[in-house]
Amino acid sequence: MRESGRVFEERIRDLVSDPRLPQGAFMAGWRWVRHRRRFETLSTGTRKNLAVALTFDVEDDYRKPGICAASRKWLPTFIDWAGDRKATLYVQGSTVRTLSDELRTAQAQHELGLHGLYHEVWGTSKWWQYSLGYSSLPLSEKERRLKESLLIMEESGLRRPRTFRAPYLNIDEITLRMLFAYGFTSDSSSAAYYGTLPSRPVSNRILQIPVTSCPVPQVKLRGIAWFSFSQLILPTIAGSSEDGLLKMVRCAVNVQESLGIPPHVVFLAHPWEFYPSSGLSHTGPNTWEYLERFLDLLGFEWILTYTTISDIGQLIQDAFGVGKRASVSGLVGKQGEPNE
Ligand SMILES: [Zn+2]
Repeated sequence: MRESGRVFEERIRDLVSDPRLPQGAFMAGWRWVRHRRRFETLSTGTRKNLAVALTFDVEDDYRKPGICAASRKWLPTFIDWAGDRKATLYVQGSTVRTLSDELRTAQAQHELGLHGLYHEVWGTSKWWQYSLGYSSLPLSEKERRLKESLLIMEESGLRRPRTFRAPYLNIDEITLRMLFAYGFTSDSSSAAYYGTLPSRPVSNRILQIPVTSCPVPQVKLRGIAWFSFSQLILPTIAGSSEDGLLKMVRCAVNVQESLGIPPHVVFLAHPWEFYPSSGLSHTGPNTWEYLERFLDLLGFEWILTYTTISDIGQLIQDAFGVGKRASVSGLVGKQGEPNE
């Protein structure tokens, strides 16, 4: 009973603070005033450097818990496609034993991060996940699942992960501190669908490196939501014009530069999106083409370097002169100040 009360309270708090809903109008207006000019200001005629982190959440098939057939089929294809490009694979712990051969091959070139054990919620309960039944876990249970995931990776001959991405891009502060205590140096779980801003590094705290999103909301009346924030995910690159995509990336990069953060993009996709999945229109064999087209587009405007999330973390920390690796200090990490 107490547990359901906690989940209910979390859902109400989440509903009240969702920036996509009408109560987000003030923040949406402020973001628009503050960042609207950032869409266009990059046209200097010279190509600048841009670090590109391609990230893939290697997990169970779309809404098929316990089956990771798409990931198994996709991994060898991805390794061939990537060539000498580096990427980051966030792996769901429970799939590791099934995928261990492919992952051991992948880790020779790519970074492996962790994506939970069973694709559970690592933050607080979201109001919009109510119908799906996804709610938060107590910290002790998260810690147990974290330890189990790390053990499975170790037993499978994989390197210990240093970067984490929570399923549904849903994480909370206490969980970030726990991850830091277990040696994680970066996290890529900020809610890009809320137009999250990039974070500056803070000593003794895990560095958050979000999936790239545009902080300026678009008015999009959909259900009860008034606003939406575009994110660098496959449905966006499949469904946007070239001009729209470039504007979004320019905006994100300009916001980073205004905060002193080296320019980079973080793109997110899932293996199951490369095969027809449960009627989702952007999934299927065209997915590789969407991705190539997007990377070509970026390459016209920037000089691209394909890199991992941990390398981007290092780049950001170097830019701010923050220590290479803070000591593991238990669950006492200092909370970073939001940038806005
Ligand atoms: Zn996932």
